[in-house]
Amino acid sequence: MSSAAFFNTEERRQVPLEPRDEGRVGLYTCGPTVYNHAHIGNFRTFLFEDLLRRALRFLGYEVEQVMNITDIDDKIIRAAVEGGVSLSEYTAPYIESFFADLDTLHIERAEHYPRATEHVPEMIELVEKLVATGVAYESDGSVFFRIADDPDYGRLSKLDLSEVRQGERVADDEYDKEDVRDFVLWKGAKPNEPSWDSPWGTGRPGWHLECSAMSMKYLGPEFDIHTGGVDNIFPHHENEIAQSETATGGRFVRLWLHAEHLLVDGRKMSKSLGNQYTLAELLERGLEPRALRYFFLTTHYRKKLNFTLAGVEDAAHALRRIDEMRFRLTHAEESGGADSPVPEAVERARARFTAALADDLNTSEALAAVFGLVKDVNIAIEENRLGTGDTQSVLQLLTDMNRVFGVLDPTEWAGEDETAAGLSDDQIEALVAARQEARAQKDFARSDEIRDRLAEQGIVIEDTPTGPRWKRT
Ligand code: AMP
Ligand code: ZN
Repeated sequence: MSSAAFFNTEERRQVPLEPRDEGRVGLYTCGPTVYNHAHIGNFRTFLFEDLLRRALRFLGYEVEQVMNITDIDDKIIRAAVEGGVSLSEYTAPYIESFFADLDTLHIERAEHYPRATEHVPEMIELVEKLVATGVAYESDGSVFFRIADDPDYGRLSKLDLSEVRQGERVADDEYDKEDVRDFVLWKGAKPNEPSWDSPWGTGRPGWHLECSAMSMKYLGPEFDIHTGGVDNIFPHHENEIAQSETATGGRFVRLWLHAEHLLVDGRKMSKSLGNQYTLAELLERGLEPRALRYFFLTTHYRKKLNFTLAGVEDAAHALRRIDEMRFRLTHAEESGGADSPVPEAVERARARFTAALADDLNTSEALAAVFGLVKDVNIAIEENRLGTGDTQSVLQLLTDMNRVFGVLDPTEWAGEDETAAGLSDDQIEALVAARQEARAQKDFARSDEIRDRLAEQGIVIEDTPTGPRWKRT
């Protein structure tokens, strides 16, 4: 297990990761509000969380990740009531498309995806605890959190509370810093709204309460890392801290990590501004999911990222450089003997890559390690200096690096965008290279499987003394 440090929003500085249980990280990631299809701004945050999860595992930690599905909130209720459907009928297609998009972008599944509607008893219990401490009070069938009773309120977002109008309330789930007031824990139901019974009459939980109740249920009262986009810092995460720490009397989260926004023409991509793209829309325009994933991961998560088609094209181009090196490597001969520079290049790249990830997910540095390797290996091939075992050790390092980035192996993506016209030349080359790689590793089951898959597409491989050749029949 390697040590790692991350920028903690609460302290505004980088601090070492010190998990509560050594070697195990409890990670809570705020999930989608399923009142619409998620847009790719949301996926920037979800991809950052995927990278974090994969990097932690690469560094040797076990990870237990929870991502909630917010399937009750003001907007969902309004839309379901207007459409005359139940909450679950309304949200089902959006939940389905969310999971399909995760798969398209090769985002690893979290261990738990709890839904708010399935955890209402836990939420009521949390409100009861807060009422018992005296910090929460009822008003007209709703329950509010009195922020004046929490001396720590504002700790995460560094709020100045001197201007706050005491005793005033805000009932909306989403509001700005100008509106900092007592916030709602439980909302009394309006007529004909879907609702649950509670000690305060029928109603439903507020959004902030959902995440407090579900994170503590799955990860315990104190856990290691909580993430979201920067828009979650206030009020969502501030309110989560207030609720959880007042209820337990202890610390809630050790490290807070927040991803910067995806922008379009300099403005945050958001449903309310109407400048969003969904993944499906971009795929229809012919963008490759592999290039999109790479595009998102190249910019550090704490920097704003402007979405442009040119940026995604550059990403596709960068990936081709890696694929070409892999292709050349699997076709090259290891005849260079003891003179090979590759073992040292592999060791250097691995160390640089690992150190970069442990340094607050320094992705540009990690990718510099990947491209440094590409360059060193290309030179060794050109100079005919590959030694015995070099192919294998470079491929192994690429496999390990791919566990983090998830874009470095073209065969994992080939076939997903197969068109009616069949595989593209690039995809065929990638599969042929993968077959060579499997053969070099004496994995004949896999090499045969790839040959059969190509044969199904009418492509035959001929093995010649200078390496494999393929043709369409
Ligand atoms: P929502 O479905 O609105 O609750 O958002 C789900 C996640 O996406 C949250 O963590 C948000 O902070 C994040 N998010 C929303 N808009 C953007 C954006 N334009 N760029 C990056 N992350 C975003
Ligand atoms: Zn949340």
